[in-house]
Amino acid sequence: MIRQPLVDLAAQHAEIGAAVLAEVERLFAAGTFIGGEPLQRFEREFAKLCQTAHCVGVGSGTDALHLALRAAGVGPGDEVITVPLTFVATAEAVVQCGARPVLVDVRPDTLVMDIGRLSAARTARTRAVLLVHLYGRLADVDAAQAWCRAHGVVLVEDAAQAHGARLGGRAAGSFGDAGAFSFYPSKNLGAAGEAGAVVTSRDDLAEQVRRLRDHGQAARYLHAVSGFNSRLDALQAAVLAVKLERLDRWNERRRALAGVYHERLAAVPGVTMPPRAADLESHVHHLFVVRVRDRDRVRQTLARHGIETGVHYPVPLHLQPAFRELGYAEGAFPAAEAAAREVLSLPLYPQLDGATVHRVCDALEAAL
Ligand SMILES: *Cc1c(COP(=O)(O)O)cnc(C)c1O
Repeated sequence: MIRQPLVDLAAQHAEIGAAVLAEVERLFAAGTFIGGEPLQRFEREFAKLCQTAHCVGVGSGTDALHLALRAAGVGPGDEVITVPLTFVATAEAVVQCGARPVLVDVRPDTLVMDIGRLSAARTARTRAVLLVHLYGRLADVDAAQAWCRAHGVVLVEDAAQAHGARLGGRAAGSFGDAGAFSFYPSKNLGAAGEAGAVVTSRDDLAEQVRRLRDHGQAARYLHAVSGFNSRLDALQAAVLAVKLERLDRWNERRRALAGVYHERLAAVPGVTMPPRAADLESHVHHLFVVRVRDRDRVRQTLARHGIETGVHYPVPLHLQPAFRELGYAEGAFPAAEAAAREVLSLPLYPQLDGATVHRVCDALEAAL
């Protein structure tokens, strides 16, 4: 039996390992591990991809969210509106600012924030909307932007799954006041460990995040605010710069494989999928997610055939023990709860071949 993982980082290493290790060797020889040219170069290149004036590398995607919100003025007593169907870090970042996450349900079809629900969730304390581009699909950015502008609310994008996604030529991270990215190893652009970045075209936000990531330093040993130690390692920046050159090509490959999945599974009874994005570039397919009833049984059957799958995410935030005190009950967000019961992530990464996609589809059909 051939074992098929959900993501295969060894296959990625086989493709680009030599180029990555050459950069690592160079960095060790130079002995510059914090800051310096590799960091500046990556920040410059990533800002270019995101079409923003600034990129500030930080220690993780979670820190990127936290520092972006904090720089935007989110603090105790504030509310930040986001969604229940996301990775936990989205809400943790709000809590780390001393603020309160307020949740609105997702759209039942695309599983991104239902912008139509924002007005009912707004209070005098609403400070920001944290918009998640789930699975690599841009959320409804134009509607979110319009709503936030109309109500004087800050817009921050959780773009941890959407590196390089574009709508009408505009890039993920450039729609909000700031965008937060994760470079967790399995993301579309992944480091060799923990890493993240905040992108923004607002000079004030960029300056504040730069300070916050480095102990609040305004100048050497002059600490303007009490900050954090959350810099992006030069080593990670050097690794990321190599991979960044491949990102658009890798995203294109993900899109092509997602297209094969879509065609194969469209007519399979018992499988539903989020509709294809009208603008294909607006989805970078960090994950390929289908919905099936009896998900856990299907998952076990696929596992017996050697096919690894994922569930993103099995328990929505409002039903997590950690967020019980937000006071939401089961049934509060029906679309997110239904998705949590049914979503199943199938193997997808740029080095995957089309024949394997067909094999996964065969196995899924048989399992159903
Ligand atoms: C990965 C991820 C994060 C957190 O990023 P880390 O780098 O793991 O801290 C936040 N939000 C979403 C949607 C993610 O997928």
